[in-house]
Amino acid sequence: MLEYKKPIPVPSDESKPYWDGLHEHKLLMPKCSACGGHWFPPTQYCTHCRSKDWAWSQVSGKGKVFSFVVYHRVYHPGFVDEVPYAVAVIELEEGPRMLSNVVGVPAEQLVCDMPVEIVFDDVVEGVTVPKFKPTAL
Ligand SMILES: [Zn+2]
Repeated sequence: MLEYKKPIPVPSDESKPYWDGLHEHKLLMPKCSACGGHWFPPTQYCTHCRSKDWAWSQVSGKGKVFSFVVYHRVYHPGFVDEVPYAVAVIELEEGPRMLSNVVGVPAEQLVCDMPVEIVFDDVVEGVTVPKFKPTAL
């Protein structure tokens, strides 16, 4: 395997279940047991109704590009071979928005509202990073 030169995520106590789920190729989001809402990033209470009665729940991994920027400058040496690349806010079908990359499509062809689905990038042993690709029609 080629040496991985990008930053490696360091899970916090709050986000560890999220990263463990990704390692198993499952996208988990906090889901409120009181109102049914999802949110992200994880917090100790529901961001919709403030209930502390919630659990991690697997979501579809499908959504759309809510917004994006295209990086043309190399801010970290690990990305030198990737510019230009897109950093996007993905809005999941279940509602939460998350920052990610969109892969499998040239950055200049990216548009808002493009349907996307998750891909699990096993970047190093034990660490999986979520990315998104255009949904096959
Ligand atoms: Zn709630």
